[in-house]
Amino acid sequence: MAPRKKYGSSSSSKKSNQNHQQSQPSKFGIQHFFDRHTQNVALSASQNAKTPQPLQTSVPKNPSQSTPPSSLTAIPAATFVEFGNEENPIEVSPPHVSKSVPFKRFKFSPGMLIKQSQDDGGDEITWKISPVNERLQAVSKHLPEMMRALADASKLNSLNFHKCSQKQALLELLDQVEDVIAVEESVTNDLEANLSISQGDKNNTISVEADTAPKTLAKFPPQRFNRRSSEHNLLVLEVYEKHKTGDSSSDLSPFKVIRLLNEQCGEEQTLHLHDEWFNSIIGPGDTIHVIGEFDEQGKCVVDHDNNLVIVVPDILVSGTRVAASFSCPRRTVLDERLKCSEHSTAALIGTLLHQIFQAGLLKELPTKGFLEEYARIVLQKNVESLYACGVKEKDMLIILIEAIPRIMNWLISFRHSEKTGLPTVAFGSNGGEKKVTISEIIDIEEMAWAPRYGLKGMIDASVRVKIDSETSGAEEKIMPLEFKTGKGTTGQSAMEHCAQVILYTLLMSERYLEHIDSGLLYYLHTDQTQGVLVRRSDLVGLIMRRNELTKDILKASTTQQLPPMLQNPNMCKSCRHLSACTIYHKAHGGNTESSGLGDVFDTHVKHLSGTHFGFLKKWDRLIDLEAKEMQAANRKIWRSLGLRSEHSSGLSSVILDASDKLFPTNCPKDGRYLYRFVRQDLPNCDQETDNGQILNAVSSPIKNLDCTLRSGDHVILSTEAGHVAVANGVITDISRFHVSVSFPRRLRLPGNKSSLEMGDLLQEVWRIDKDEFTTSFAIMRFNLIQLFVQSAEASRLRKMIVDIEAPRFDSAGIFSQDPAISYVRSEKNLNKDQRKAIQKILTAKDYALILGMPGTGKTSTMVHAVKALLMRGASILLTSYTNSAVDNLLIKLKAQGIDFVRIGRYEAVHEEVRGHCFSATGTCSVEEIKLRLDQVNIVAVTCLGITHPLLANRRFDVCIMDEAGQITLPVSLGPLMFASVFVLVGDHYQLPPLVQSTEARENGMGISLFCRLSEAHPQAISALQCQYRMNAGIMELSNALIYGNRLRCGSPKIANAKLQFLCAKPSIPWLKEVLDPNKPVIFINTDMLPALEAKDQKTVNNPKEAYIVAEITDELVNKGIAEEDIGIITPYNSQANLIRRVVCATSVEIHTIDKYQGRDKDCILVSFVRSSDNPRACKSSLLGDWQRINVSLTRAKKKLIMVGSCKTVSNVPLLKLLIEKVDEQSGIFCISQKDFHQSGKLKRCSQQMHVL
Ligand code: SF4
Repeated sequence: MAPRKKYGSSSSSKKSNQNHQQSQPSKFGIQHFFDRHTQNVALSASQNAKTPQPLQTSVPKNPSQSTPPSSLTAIPAATFVEFGNEENPIEVSPPHVSKSVPFKRFKFSPGMLIKQSQDDGGDEITWKISPVNERLQAVSKHLPEMMRALADASKLNSLNFHKCSQKQALLELLDQVEDVIAVEESVTNDLEANLSISQGDKNNTISVEADTAPKTLAKFPPQRFNRRSSEHNLLVLEVYEKHKTGDSSSDLSPFKVIRLLNEQCGEEQTLHLHDEWFNSIIGPGDTIHVIGEFDEQGKCVVDHDNNLVIVVPDILVSGTRVAASFSCPRRTVLDERLKCSEHSTAALIGTLLHQIFQAGLLKELPTKGFLEEYARIVLQKNVESLYACGVKEKDMLIILIEAIPRIMNWLISFRHSEKTGLPTVAFGSNGGEKKVTISEIIDIEEMAWAPRYGLKGMIDASVRVKIDSETSGAEEKIMPLEFKTGKGTTGQSAMEHCAQVILYTLLMSERYLEHIDSGLLYYLHTDQTQGVLVRRSDLVGLIMRRNELTKDILKASTTQQLPPMLQNPNMCKSCRHLSACTIYHKAHGGNTESSGLGDVFDTHVKHLSGTHFGFLKKWDRLIDLEAKEMQAANRKIWRSLGLRSEHSSGLSSVILDASDKLFPTNCPKDGRYLYRFVRQDLPNCDQETDNGQILNAVSSPIKNLDCTLRSGDHVILSTEAGHVAVANGVITDISRFHVSVSFPRRLRLPGNKSSLEMGDLLQEVWRIDKDEFTTSFAIMRFNLIQLFVQSAEASRLRKMIVDIEAPRFDSAGIFSQDPAISYVRSEKNLNKDQRKAIQKILTAKDYALILGMPGTGKTSTMVHAVKALLMRGASILLTSYTNSAVDNLLIKLKAQGIDFVRIGRYEAVHEEVRGHCFSATGTCSVEEIKLRLDQVNIVAVTCLGITHPLLANRRFDVCIMDEAGQITLPVSLGPLMFASVFVLVGDHYQLPPLVQSTEARENGMGISLFCRLSEAHPQAISALQCQYRMNAGIMELSNALIYGNRLRCGSPKIANAKLQFLCAKPSIPWLKEVLDPNKPVIFINTDMLPALEAKDQKTVNNPKEAYIVAEITDELVNKGIAEEDIGIITPYNSQANLIRRVVCATSVEIHTIDKYQGRDKDCILVSFVRSSDNPRACKSSLLGDWQRINVSLTRAKKKLIMVGSCKTVSNVPLLKLLIEKVDEQSGIFCISQKDFHQSGKLKRCSQQMHVL
C-alpha cells in the first residue's frame, strides 16, 4: 500500500499548502494547457486531482487540421444535478451545525460583521469587525441573537474548526459586535437613500420570483426556480478539509467542506469541493454562488464532473480579462484597476476592422464596394482616434482595404454559401468537421452580463448557425462569433481566444435562456475559421481561473496587494504596466531581487522616497474605500434583490413612452437610437386628489422622476423582470417627467425576433442605472500612479503635491511691459481683489490658488484671467469636475467672442457651447483636427474626460480648474499633468469633495488638493473678498460664523438690497413679520408648536416645517415675488421631496444644500428639519457640517428665512452662534399654535410624508 499523503498535517506543510494555493493553477482542461505554457510546473499540485485530459494546444493551419478536445461534456445548469458520492466513508463526520443549533431563519448575514484576513503564506487567521455599514444598521434588532447562534455553532464545531486557532479572539469580537450594534442608529446624510438590503427589498425579490413570474423569467430553465438549487448567493461560514477513506490508497484525496448560510431563507447548507475544486481559495466571509442543486440535507458536491462554484459572483469579470490572466494575473488586475489613456495603432486597426466586419455581417448582400465605402465611413467616425495615434487616413485606409477581400470571402462563404457550397469548420477531434452556415445575425457587439457566473462581456456577433455533420445530422444553434485581427493565431494567443469564446457561450446561455455549447473564431490574419466546442474540463479550468482572478481583484481592492510579479524580464520589459507594476511592488515592500527585473526595476523606482510610497499607498487605499462604497450600490443592478428597489443611482419602474410617436428616434448625427421613458404609473391626465384639488403634472407625487441621473450620464438599461444590462446608453435629456436615452443600436430583448420587439419593449418595465463608477476610479488610480513615474512632469508635480514644496512666483513680471499685466491694470470691470488674483495667476511659476468666497465674481475673474493669458499667447486647459461648471465658464467666454474647443459627450454639453464640440464642427480629417487644435488656445474638458483622444500628446501652458475645493485629489491630478502651471479656483469653506465612504472621508479623502495646498502655503492664495450677492445683513452671518469679517459688499446698492413686493395685499400677522423687507434675516423658531421631526426608516423630514415653508412661499408669490427668485434649501432629500409635493409654485427651486452650491436667489428659505429631544442625533447630523451650513447661508441676495427648532439646532455650536447673531440682528420669530392653522396644506404635508 502506498504511503498515505498528509495534507496540512503540520504547520509547515499547511503554510506550504497555502502558499501553493495562492498561485497554483488547477490541473484541468484549458488551464492545464496554460499551466504547461506559462506557469511554473514546480508549483503544480498534481496529487489532488484526477488525471487531466489532454487539450488542444494550437490552432491548426487550416480548419480541417484542428485537433480540438477529445471529449465534449455539455454543461447546462440542468445537468449539474449530481450529488456527492457517499460510497466512501470519511474520517470525521461533517459538523452539521443545523443539528446542534435549532433552526433559525436569519434575516441577515454574519459576513457583514466579521471578516477573515489571511496573510499570504501564514496559517494565522485573524478576525475583524467589518466597518459598521448599512447592512449592520438594517439588522440591528436581530443581530445579538444571530451572533450568539454563530458563536454557539463555532463552539460546537471546535474540533473541526482547526484552521481558526483564534476562536477566543473571534468570540471576543463577536461581543464587540454586539456593542457596536447598541450604538444608536442615527440619520446621517442624504446618502441614506443608498443603503441596501431592506426588508422591502427582500419582499420585492420574493414577489419577483414566486408571485409575478414575468414572462421573460418564465423562459428560464426550470431548475432556476428550484428551491433547493442555490439561486441565491451564499455566505461562507467555515471551511475545513477532510479526507476520504476508501479501499484503495489512490482514493485518499482530500476535499473541502464549506458551511454556508443562505441569507435569503436563513438555512445552513454544506458544500463539498472535490478534485480540482479542492484548490479553490474560499474563506469565511466570502460570498459564493453554486450552480448545482443541494439535496434534502442541504448538501451539494462540486467535483470534476458535476456543478460549479462561483466565488464572489457580485464581481463581474470580463471574459477577455479571464482569458488574458493566464499569462500574468498581476497584469490583468492592473488592467482592471487602471485606465490608461494610451492610444495604440494596433488596437485601433482591430477596432476599425471589427466595425467593417460587423457592417458586412449586418448587410443583406454585402459587396466589396460596400465594405470599401464602409471603411471610409469608419475612418471618418474614428478620426479622433486616428489623430491620437498619429496615423493618416490614407495609410489606415490602405490597411483596411487590404483586409476587405478576405472579409468578403468569409461573408460569402458563411453567409451566402449557396454560391460556394457550405464551408467546413473543424470543432476538434470530438466535435469533428461540420458544415456551417450562418442563418441569422442576431446581434453585434452584444453586451452580456451573467451575474450567475460572475462574468460579463461584449460579444462580437451573436449568430444563429445551421450545422450539418455526419455524426449528429442537421441542427440549428445560437453561438458567439469572435473576430480576431491580430497576428497571434496560435499557441497562447489561440488558447486565450478559445477561452474567451467558451466564456461567451456561458454569457449567451444566460442571455438567451438556452444551452449554448459551441462558438466560432474567425482569424482574419490567416483567413481561417475554427469551431470551439465547450468541454466541461475547459469550463472548469476557466471558472476556477475566473474565481482566482476575482479573489485577486478583491484582494487588491481591500489590501492594495497585487498578485506577485512574474519575474520574467522578457515579458515584463514590453508590458504596458511596467512602471506601475514596479512602483507598486516597491511600495508594498518588494525589492530588486523579488522583482526579478534587476536594473530595470531600479530605474523605475529609485527616484522615489518613503514619503512618496506612503502617499501612494494612502491614496490608493482611500480610492478603494470609496470605490467599494459606490460599487456596492452599483452591484444592486444585477442582484435580483435590487431589481425593484428605488435607489439613488438610478430609476426604476419606468416604461417606454408609448405616446412618443417618434419612438425610437434615430439621431442623425451619430446614428444612435433615442428612446423616451416615463414613470410606469404615469396617469394619462391630471389627477384629482382627496380634497378635490387637481394635482397638476408638477405637483403630482407620482409623476416626478426624482433621481440623481443627469443629462450625459452613461447608464445601463435592465428590465425589472430580470434581464440585466439589456443595453448601455447615454442620457440625452431628463426632466421631472421623462428621461431620454440614446443607444448605439435599436433596443431588443435578448432572444426576441426583431418583428416582435416593439410590442414586447412597450410591455416591459425598465430600470435605468448609472454606469460610470468603475471607470472613474480606474482613472483616479491611474492619475495617482502617474504622479510617481519617472518623468519630468511627474517629478515637478510630485514636488508640489507630495513634498509640498512652496510655489514660486515671478515678482519681476508685475513691472514688465507684459500686455497681460497692462490689461489687468486697465480693465475697469475688475475690482482690487480680482486684479490681484489675476496678477497672482500671471506671475505663478508653479501654481496659484484663487479663493472665491460666495458671490465674489469668481467666474468673471476667470474670464479676465483667460483673456490676460491669451494676450501672452498661452495655451490653456479649462477644467472642472462637472460639465455644468465647465460650460458656465465657456458660456461667458463665448459671450466675449473667445474661441475654444469643448471636449466631451455632445449630449452632456450645454447647448450654448455644443457648437464648439468637434462632433458639431464638421471637422472630418486628421489634418483638420490638427489645424483646429493648433489654431485654438483654449481646450475645455471635465476632469474625468482627460482620457479623450483629442488630448493625446497635448500640453498646455496653464491649467485652470474651477470648483477645485470640491474635487478629490486623485481626480484633480489628471488635468494637472497636462500643464506647466496650474490654477485652482475654489472655496474650501464651502462644500468639500463629496465622499460617500465614511472611512475614506475620515482618513482624508474629503481634503481637496485646493485645501491641502491652501493650508500648506497660504501665500499662494489670492482671495476674492468683495461680494456682489448678499445684502449686508445676510453677509454678516457668514462673516461672523465662517469668514472672520473678510467679506465685503461690492457696493452700497448690494448692501442695502431689499425684497420689493409688487402687491400690498395684507398678510396674516405672523407672515407680515416674517416677510418684513427691513429684516433681511429671520429665524422662525418652532419650539412653541412644537414641530418635531419625523423618522421613517432611513429618512427624516419635518411636515410642520414643510407646511411653514409652503405658506411663506405662497405668500411671497402672492405678493409679487417671481417664483424663479425664490429658493428652498434643506439638508435632507426627504424634506426636499416633501416640500416639493406641497409647494404649489412650480418654478421655485427646491434642493438639498449640496445641489445649491453655485446658485443664488433673491429670497431663500432654509428648513433645518431636525427637532427632537436628543441633542446627539442633531450634532452628528448634517447640521454639524459647517461647510454645508455656510453654503445654505450664502445663497440669498435679499432675504434669508430660516425655519427650525432653536432648542435642537442650538446643540450644534455653529448654529447656536447663528441663532445668537440673528437674534442680535432681527430677533427670532417664535411661531406658536395660534399662528399655525390646521389648513388643508398641513394635511397634505402629513399625507405626503406617508407617500415618501
Ligand atoms: S511588468 Fe511583468 S509582472 Fe508586472 S504586470 Fe507586467 S508582465 Fe506582469
